[in-house]
Amino acid sequence: MKLLDAKALRLEIGDDRSRGLTIGFVPTMGALHDGHLSLIRRAGAENDRVVVSIFVNPLQFGPTEDLATYPRDLAGDSSKCEGAGVDYLFAPSVEEMYPKGAIDTRIDPGPVGAVLEGEFRPGFFVGVATVCVKLFNLVAPDRAYFGQKDAQQLAVIKKVVSDLDLPLEIVECPTVREPDGLAASSRNKHLSAQDREAAAALSRGLFAAEKQALAGERDATLLKNVVADIVGREPRARIQYVEVIDPVSFVTLDWIEDRAVIALAAFVSETRLIDNVLIDLTHEEGTR
Ligand code: AMP
Repeated sequence: MKLLDAKALRLEIGDDRSRGLTIGFVPTMGALHDGHLSLIRRAGAENDRVVVSIFVNPLQFGPTEDLATYPRDLAGDSSKCEGAGVDYLFAPSVEEMYPKGAIDTRIDPGPVGAVLEGEFRPGFFVGVATVCVKLFNLVAPDRAYFGQKDAQQLAVIKKVVSDLDLPLEIVECPTVREPDGLAASSRNKHLSAQDREAAAALSRGLFAAEKQALAGERDATLLKNVVADIVGREPRARIQYVEVIDPVSFVTLDWIEDRAVIALAAFVSETRLIDNVLIDLTHEEGTR
């Protein structure tokens, strides 16, 4: 595995491309866990070369958010990448990405990024979309891999790629979970032992709602109440939002017709976590 700066990365990838090799790209913020590794392995299975970026992007953090305390472990990440078969690791400094401390150009994904995470974290998706377009231009991958764990981010990136005709495919990968259901996340490192136990209530609530949806319950309010009731029983957890939305547009749904995401954000003590389940009834209906 080679740890490369932007210029060397371009040269290596240019050389690979000229030899007809395909490039798979996994953008991350580091503190790598099994969720990231599942994306990396999938990229390895589907491409000749795998590029991983590690960049905690200041542009997507609000002034009161956890930029300073976001977990960082380049040495540990580097050996995980090596073990997972990554070819090129790109871990730029803030100065390398934003030489003047910031950049003026912004990519605004519009309505899909304005609700839920976009509402509670103003500027978040503009920061995400901008850095992703910059990274896509640096890496020029054939495919980029994103997790369903961040369902709205996935929808935003797909929209940007489609609207701007970016020449790559976005591959969505299922959420990797701990044995008790908690979605793997770098921010889980902030949880105390008691918080960690409490955090399982989030996926418990989502799974209960998913079960009811698959059993025929289509009413979004009832499904949201299922989640809120279960998470509400955990005193360490506080829901910020729970919504049923269309997986592509992120428009709120009152009623599930075919596909929907049930998404939540919740604080467990001080740590803000997000999770979701994707409900897909198209398959069931197709087989009836
Ligand atoms: P992050 O480092 O949190 O920005 O995440 C980098 C990529 O890994 C994003 O595409 C995330 O959606 C994905 N990811 C994070 N957690 C998980 C997970 N538990 N399962 C699958 N993908 C994940």
